Amino acid sequence: MPIYVQYYFWLLLVSLGCFAVERVAPWRREQRVLRRGLAQDLVWLVFNGHYLGLLLALGAGHVIEALNGLLAKAGLPLPESLALLAGSPLWLQFIVFLVLKDFVEWNIHRLLHNVPWLWEFHKLHHSIEELDWIGNFRFHWGEVIVYKTLSYLPLVVLGVDWRVLLAIAILWTVMLDLNHSNVRYSWGPLRYVLNSPRMHVWHHDVETHGRGGQNFGQVLSVWDWLFGTAYWPDDREMPTRLGFAGMETYPRGLIGRFFWPLTRLVTGRGSRDA
Ligand SMILES: [Zn+2]
Ligand SMILES: [Zn+2]
Repeated sequence: MPIYVQYYFWLLLVSLGCFAVERVAPWRREQRVLRRGLAQDLVWLVFNGHYLGLLLALGAGHVIEALNGLLAKAGLPLPESLALLAGSPLWLQFIVFLVLKDFVEWNIHRLLHNVPWLWEFHKLHHSIEELDWIGNFRFHWGEVIVYKTLSYLPLVVLGVDWRVLLAIAILWTVMLDLNHSNVRYSWGPLRYVLNSPRMHVWHHDVETHGRGGQNFGQVLSVWDWLFGTAYWPDDREMPTRLGFAGMETYPRGLIGRFFWPLTRLVTGRGSRDA
């Protein structure tokens, strides 16, 4: 079965699993299943960023192969020294990929919050007002291209096996789905290494608890603890409101959100009805 079909099989399985877990042990009991924006989030789910990253990586693999072919034809030396991971055990490739990708994405995520024009793209993810697993897929195409190009391409150049690429795309889907799920768990003492719904909910707080935001981690939480951006209050269970300041000028419709912030550049203002 081709890798791009295999991913959808896993996506279906993970989605059903998260849906079941949220029904069995919901954290915010008042939260509805058929919440506002659900239909729109299903569109973001089908065309999701983890899948785009996988396609991008596979495409880049073919481009590198073609370039190597051209270099060989021209009698030029191949840059094989760059493919440092090719031939390494799959578990080693997996761990290197996991740590590098997660650290690169933690840095990109901080930039998305702190560089004004990047924040305009990232607002889509923070427009979530009721957090559940489907919210994981609400990412703007503009930021997905930045994220996935910077996080997958170096690993493709290093020669990572396609099975590792697929395993990473599945791991990101599982972990980030869980981080957005309406369930209350935090990995116990492992919370200093792994991200969780209890930690990530504070990333979506309408308030920021530190310079430029908090809890930027993806799969791992360790970067936030190490670099002082972790926020985990003992005296509060969860934020009173999710979202971001100034949401009233942000579009609500799918088309308006798809073309934001380009529309704002053209019209010079936002529109709630776009
Ligand atoms: Zn964010
Ligand atoms: Zn999130």
